[in-house]
Amino acid sequence: MLDFVYQALPARVIFQAGALSRLPEEVQRLGVRRVLVLTTPGQRKLGEQAARALGALAVGVCSEAVMHVPREAAQAARAQAEQLSADGCVAIGGGSTIGLGKAIALTSSLPILAVPTTYAGSEMTPIHGMTENGLKTTGRDLRVLPKTVIYDPLLTLDLPPALSAASGMNAMAHAVEALYAQDANPIVSLMAQEAIRSLARALPAVVAKPRDESARAGALYGAWLAGTCLGAVGMALHHKICHTLGGSFNLPHAQTHAIMLPYTAHYNHTAAPEALQRVARALGGDTAAEAGPLLMALNRSLGLPASLAQIGMPENGILQAAETASRNPYYNPRPVLHDDILAMLQRAWRGDSAA
Ligand code: NAD
Repeated sequence: MLDFVYQALPARVIFQAGALSRLPEEVQRLGVRRVLVLTTPGQRKLGEQAARALGALAVGVCSEAVMHVPREAAQAARAQAEQLSADGCVAIGGGSTIGLGKAIALTSSLPILAVPTTYAGSEMTPIHGMTENGLKTTGRDLRVLPKTVIYDPLLTLDLPPALSAASGMNAMAHAVEALYAQDANPIVSLMAQEAIRSLARALPAVVAKPRDESARAGALYGAWLAGTCLGAVGMALHHKICHTLGGSFNLPHAQTHAIMLPYTAHYNHTAAPEALQRVARALGGDTAAEAGPLLMALNRSLGLPASLAQIGMPENGILQAAETASRNPYYNPRPVLHDDILAMLQRAWRGDSAA
């Protein structure tokens, strides 16, 4: 029987090749007059270009965004925003840059306009995070949800193929877990299936021809849908494990998601057969048991690393990771039992088959 709650999150989304040119009008639409532009050090030029296009609407560029929002970086950016009397932020970049914007919004309520240049999906969520002493804490707060999101596929043309593949599979993970979320609902499930289909179609084309605009548009479209799923429903085992692995062993975020996804999908396939069947069908298969192997085949075709060992996870960390991931109870279709998680992590460390 159908039984669900669906709550839409408010956001204005503009999706168009070349949409960055609409930045000044969209900033004005928000009623913002003093913008602080945020980027990583590597994307500073893009930030400066945006600030020039904004003219008098921009009061500064902060290019100090780094992975996982260290507290010091957040405090420095908050101080800069305050000193410049900024009344809004434009975050141009991936999850790290948008995360920095969220850290500013959390304490100041400044509106964020996000211009994502990866497929991580943070721009569509009210989830914020910060890292201190190697520990990442996250929370949900509507103040950090970007008010406007500009998706411009042209900005992703230079995202290196390996990073594009990993980031795309990070998006894929949001969609897969949305299908068996505790608060899953029909609209989000439709978006999740469309996200999986779109990412599976576009990512191999992106890796083969990174400057193919239509492939890039397909991947970014899938990432938008997947990010919407992440913002709308709760996640489960997969996100918990990746959070644990990333935090404890400093593993690269997107690659960790890509490697783990076939294993976590397979872990849940008997407990959430309908959801995993929908995953398999969106990937061109038929049964729930095929979901994990099909995700692994996609990883392989994208040239992604096949094991946790390959991305620097120490073998003697597996036990600790299994303990952390199974210590605090959280929702997952199949019970999160220490020995089962340990066995799954051992397989993922070696890069064994998902099934
Ligand atoms: P990222 O933002 O760290 O970007 C990775 C690197 O790619 C950076 O050096 C960046 O400068 C570069 N880059 C970004 N776009 C580029 C482009 N188009 N061309 C060339 N280089 C480009 O990586 P990410 O995977 O997008 O984000 C990861 C972070 O986001 C993690 O901290 C993760 O926890 C967080 N995240 C948060 C949410 C959320 O809802 N809060 C969702 C997903 C991810």
